[in-house]
Amino acid sequence: MTTAPFSEFDSSRYRLLTETGDVKDGAACVLYWMGRDQRVEDNYAMLAARGIAKEQGVPLRVLFPFYTSFNDMSVRQFTFMAKGLEEVERDLRSLNIPFEVKVAAVGEVGEAVVDAAKEHKAAAVVTDHMPLRIVREWEEKVGGELDGLDVPLFQVDAANVVPVWVASDKKEVGARTLRPKINKLYSRYLKEFDAVEKNTEKCDLGPLTNWEEVLGSLDAKKVDMDVNVPNTFVPGKTAAMAAFQDFCDEKLKKYADNRNDPNLDVQSGMAPWVRFGQVGFQRLALDVKKLGKYSDGVAAFIEEGVVRRELSDNFCFYNSNYDSLTGAAGWAQESLQLHSTDAREYTYTKEQFEKALTHDDLWNAAQIQLVNEGKMHGFLRMYWAKKILEWTTSPAQALEWGLYLNDKFSFDGSCPNGYVGVGWSVMGVHDMGWKERDVFGKIRFMNYNGCKRKFDIWDFVRKYPGAAENALKAGGETAVQKKAKGSKNKKQKTR
Ligand SMILES: Cc1cc2nc3c(=O)[nH]c(=O)nc-3n(C[C@H](O)[C@H](O)[C@H](O)COP(=O)(O)OP(=O)(O)OC[C@H]3O[C@@H](n4cnc5c(N)ncnc54)[C@H](O)[C@@H]3O)c2cc1C
Repeated sequence: MTTAPFSEFDSSRYRLLTETGDVKDGAACVLYWMGRDQRVEDNYAMLAARGIAKEQGVPLRVLFPFYTSFNDMSVRQFTFMAKGLEEVERDLRSLNIPFEVKVAAVGEVGEAVVDAAKEHKAAAVVTDHMPLRIVREWEEKVGGELDGLDVPLFQVDAANVVPVWVASDKKEVGARTLRPKINKLYSRYLKEFDAVEKNTEKCDLGPLTNWEEVLGSLDAKKVDMDVNVPNTFVPGKTAAMAAFQDFCDEKLKKYADNRNDPNLDVQSGMAPWVRFGQVGFQRLALDVKKLGKYSDGVAAFIEEGVVRRELSDNFCFYNSNYDSLTGAAGWAQESLQLHSTDAREYTYTKEQFEKALTHDDLWNAAQIQLVNEGKMHGFLRMYWAKKILEWTTSPAQALEWGLYLNDKFSFDGSCPNGYVGVGWSVMGVHDMGWKERDVFGKIRFMNYNGCKRKFDIWDFVRKYPGAAENALKAGGETAVQKKAKGSKNKKQKTR
């Protein structure tokens, strides 16, 4: 009997989710239940599972339970995920590691994992970590059933540089409280990865997955199948690393100063690949550090990808109400409640938001970008979500619709960053109270004039046909008209 999970592995990176901690003797494999971290290399969960298998003298198998719906994910993200997994399958086959996809309704993922553990006589099951409620329900189900079989379930945090349960033992107030904790531990965890060893045993790799069939099994009652799949992000690790190379060559030098300007587009664009674990952020952090240049850009990139991203995981891990107003801080809940009946100058329906039919050309342009390209510039995301708060009849509605639109259209949606990003904008997550005003209460306010001071709004709006026209139809003015009016007023004042 081995006490868990295998001797060379950093024990702080995993947790035991079963009572049973002993790897089962006389079994036929170790099963990696792949969830969030959909890659072979640079994946601590894969390495842990491979390590246990090696010590036990059994092969490693990988299972991906392909859930037929997930929150508000549309066919856009499912297609991205499936195509990324196609590359995972190829990589695993080159290592003689069997990969199995089991299609399962969202409520039956747990059963699919337990069935696979039984069928393949697993010595242990290893999974990665995603702090969302549905995934926790699956883990509870699997843990309970595996205990009955005397098979341990190990969970490895393979998504964060510093494992979420190590970085902090509580919900953090914000980046300023998590940052010093991460900084203290960061160099201990930011290490190069070992390569995944091949299975040396004879393994039946079975036929290749029929991905068309898998995608065809999506639950059309829950998954919007009408959303298109633009080619803005090519799925898979190879494409991700090519895009990252381009970022390092062309954009990183400007990242520290210009990442908040939507017209300059110097963000990395890595979020969809990171969201589906097609690349681990640790790989990106290691690679930018190796460049040995653009130190301000590197520091800013690591601040976003390590501190901010890991703060999102911290929030969802320690707060199961991450997607509800009850998950907000007391001051924010009170203030939003107090202002929930304030008169709104504009209100829109969900459909009007979705179709970018507001009076605001900038908001419409951002929404059109989201719908057409599956992404929205990071700075505009804040403005976009805050305006949903301003133009809906209640904060709860704003939170729901903001999350719905983000998760349906954004390639990187349905993840802790999305819940925290919308939560920050609508209910002050990780923020502080600001000057009280109508509708927003003490939630930080953003407006069109503030954007105007940061970048040329018309330069952005004109890239998205329909944005200005829709604004005019809804009784608004375009950025050009506002500018003309502004300079006329200025001239009159100076006369
Ligand atoms: C309303 C709203 C919704 C958001 N929804 C999502 C979402 O669904 N998925 C998502 O990954 N991010 C989300 N964010 C956070 C942030 O806007 C995006 O991560 C970022 O814009 C992605 O672009 P990029 O990969 O080019 O980022 P870069 O600026 O190149 O940053 C590198 C990586 O750091 C991480 N990161 C960057 N900014 C943040 C941040 N503020 N918080 C946490 N992590 C960050 C991401 O993993 C990103 O890929 C949201 C923010 C807001 C305000």
